[in-house]
Amino acid sequence: MENISEKMPIAFLGHGNPMNAIEKNSFTESLRKFGAKLPKLKAILMISAHWETNGTYVTGMERPRTIHDFGNFPRALFEVQYPAPGAPEIAKDLTHEVSDPIIQIDLNKWGLDHGTWSVLKHIFPQANIPVFQLSLDRTKPMEYHFEMGKKISYLRDHGVMIMGSGNIVHNLREVNWDPEAKPYDWAIEFDQWVKDKLEKRDYKSLFKEALSSKEGKLSIPTLEHYLPILYVLGASSDSDKLLHEFEGIDMSSMSMRCFSLS
Ligand code: ZN
Repeated sequence: MENISEKMPIAFLGHGNPMNAIEKNSFTESLRKFGAKLPKLKAILMISAHWETNGTYVTGMERPRTIHDFGNFPRALFEVQYPAPGAPEIAKDLTHEVSDPIIQIDLNKWGLDHGTWSVLKHIFPQANIPVFQLSLDRTKPMEYHFEMGKKISYLRDHGVMIMGSGNIVHNLREVNWDPEAKPYDWAIEFDQWVKDKLEKRDYKSLFKEALSSKEGKLSIPTLEHYLPILYVLGASSDSDKLLHEFEGIDMSSMSMRCFSLS
C-alpha cells in the first residue's frame, strides 16, 4: 500500500438514538463540524457496535448496502440510504497484514449498519469517501479488542481513518424517552471516569477496570457498544492529541461522548 506522510486521525463517536440520523440537534451539528475539519481521507474503517460475529470479519464489497438494523422507527429512517463505496482493496490488504487473528472477508452478508451510517450521514453527507467495516468478535474479552486496535493501526499511515461507533454508557433497559429526562448519577459518573482515564492516557484501566464498579456495570450491561472505543485507543500513538468533540447524556442512560485523537 502506498504510504502517505500524514498520519490519519482516529475517533470514537457516540451514536445513541438512530433518529439522530435524520434529525438536526447540537450532537449532529458537532458531527458536521467534525467532518469539515478532517483531512482528505482515502477510506474510513468503521468499527460499529452493531456488527457482532464469531471470529473477525471485514466487509470487502464494492458497494456495501445500507442496513436498517432496527425496528419500530418511522418510515423516513428506513428510507435513508448511505451509498458510500466500499474499499475492497484495502480490506484485502488488511487480511494479509493481520494474520493473527485471521480476518475473513465478507462479500455479501453485511454492509453499512446504522452505527456507521447514522453518524457518517452528518460527518460526510455526500457519502463520497469509501467505507468498510470490521466486526466485533463476540467471543473475546475486552483486552483482545484493544490489541486488535494496535494491529490495525498501520492503516493510519495509508490514508485510512479508523472510527469506532458505540456509546460509553449504553443501558437500553434504563432509557427514559422523555426529552427532558435527566441523566442518572451513575451514567454521569461512569462517563466522567472514562473521560478522566482518556485524559490521563490510562487506557489499560478502560479495559481492565471498566466493569469493576457499580457504575461501570450499569453503563456496560453488554459489551458491544463499549468495545469500539478500545479499537480506537489501541490504534492511538503517544504523539496523538486528544480532542473532546461532543459530550452529553441522552435519554438518561446513553452517553453521546465523542472524541478524536490526531
Ligand atoms: Zn447502537
